[in-house]
Amino acid sequence: QAKGNGRGSYQIYDHQMHLAIVHRLTLESDLQRALDRQEFTIYYQPIFNLQTQELSGFEALIRWQHPHRGTVSPGEFIPCLETTGFIVPVGLLILRQACAQLQQWHRSGYPDLTMGINISIRQFVCPTLLDDIDQIISETQVNPACVKLEITETCIMENAETTIALTQQLRARQIQISIDDFGTGYSSLSYLHCLPVNTLKIDRCFIVGITPSTTNYQVVKTIMLLSQQLGLDVVAEGIETESEQAYLLALGCQFGQGYFFDRPLPAAMVAEKYLTGPPLTVP
Ligand code: C2E
Ligand code: MG
Ligand code: MG
Ligand code: MG
Repeated sequence: QAKGNGRGSYQIYDHQMHLAIVHRLTLESDLQRALDRQEFTIYYQPIFNLQTQELSGFEALIRWQHPHRGTVSPGEFIPCLETTGFIVPVGLLILRQACAQLQQWHRSGYPDLTMGINISIRQFVCPTLLDDIDQIISETQVNPACVKLEITETCIMENAETTIALTQQLRARQIQISIDDFGTGYSSLSYLHCLPVNTLKIDRCFIVGITPSTTNYQVVKTIMLLSQQLGLDVVAEGIETESEQAYLLALGCQFGQGYFFDRPLPAAMVAEKYLTGPPLTVP
């Protein structure tokens, strides 16, 4: 096949481009079908109060139940959902389902549980977001004070005007705001003063392998100081070991989530493991 000249390598390049395009188009039509056939579902990862060991709430994480590929993680399809704009209808589906689920768990005897729901930039700047949220709240009858929308620093910084207006409107509805992947985006910390944010979620990259001799330890320490000054809650993401948990607790971090506690789980398994009897603590 190799022709050993420029034209040959162009053909190889074209061929690879072609494959990439076919792959993308396949993914796109797969996603459209997934939306039509309701192949998207939510897993819920528990979040614990590190001080009391009590279950504090969950983060809703999308999964794609692919007919041939099994459960597909969001890293593989969220970017495509975003470029195609499918993230808007899919995001609404997730919002509605997560709110309905939370309301059900509240009614079944756990009225303080919170639900973190990820909102992508594309959804965030969608002019109908607020109306959609109002409709979902009235439809599901969920307590909005227990709903925590997770947005990234990058999303906030790229949409400063929208963010201020929108977060104020959300606050007026008692909905909480978390800054996701905190520390990884480019950001001017000054925005934190003027936004009605409730929670910082420290990205997993600052948590992994944390001990007092690491730079990460100093970073987390600084984030803790900042959060105390601003009166914000802090959640450590991606806690995988007992030792990470202990250091975070020592640093004053109140909440944590990660494989050390549990993985994201289907709703039925959450109910079975966490919502059957009185103990709402670390398994
Ligand atoms: P994220 O919002 O920062 O979510 C946390 C991610 O860390 C999740 O990955 C979770 O499964 C993973 N994780 C939790 N604990 C651990 C741990 O101890 N170790 C490791 N290695 N990972 C841990 P997941 O579910 O694959 O989601 C990845 C990202 O996709 C999310 O990051 C979020 O940005 C996005 N995403 C997920 N669901 C949605 C959704 O419904 N809507 C939107 N717009 N984005 C979503
Ligand atoms: Mg998140
Ligand atoms: Mg995160
Ligand atoms: Mg992340």
